[in-house]
Amino acid sequence: MRFLCDAMLGGLAKWLRAAGYDTYYAREGTDVSDGSLVRMALEEGRVLLTSDRGFLERKPVRDEEVSLLVVPHLPLEDQLCLVVGSFDLAWRPSRCMKCNGELETVRPDAVVERVPPGVIRDHQRFFRCEGCERVFWHGSHWERIVGRLGRVFG
Ligand SMILES: [Zn+2]
Repeated sequence: MRFLCDAMLGGLAKWLRAAGYDTYYAREGTDVSDGSLVRMALEEGRVLLTSDRGFLERKPVRDEEVSLLVVPHLPLEDQLCLVVGSFDLAWRPSRCMKCNGELETVRPDAVVERVPPGVIRDHQRFFRCEGCERVFWHGSHWERIVGRLGRVFG
């Protein structure tokens, strides 16, 4: 299952990526008209997540078979719970929260020039984004992410 978040749901997009779901975020500045969002959702087989209650009333989806969920203005964790519950999502290996790329596991020697020495010393596994090439490891930031996902999927 893949998602398309409208411009108001950037936070949710990041967390769906953290939960392992391919999620495109229609940022401000790109074409975020109803028609364009629906077209992209259909072409790429994505579920459209919108914060816009008027979306259905404007009927841009009248004869289309786009799947759509209106996500109300709630705290981020509640929004994530709503999406996870609505589609019965499982927790999968994370994607890059920044760019939606897949993460590959790499050994410390592959990232030694890009990570502080203390971090290299303390960690055996690193993850590199196949999209933006950022390097991640399971540090304190990661623990906060896992803590939140644990509450949502728990
Ligand atoms: Zn990335």
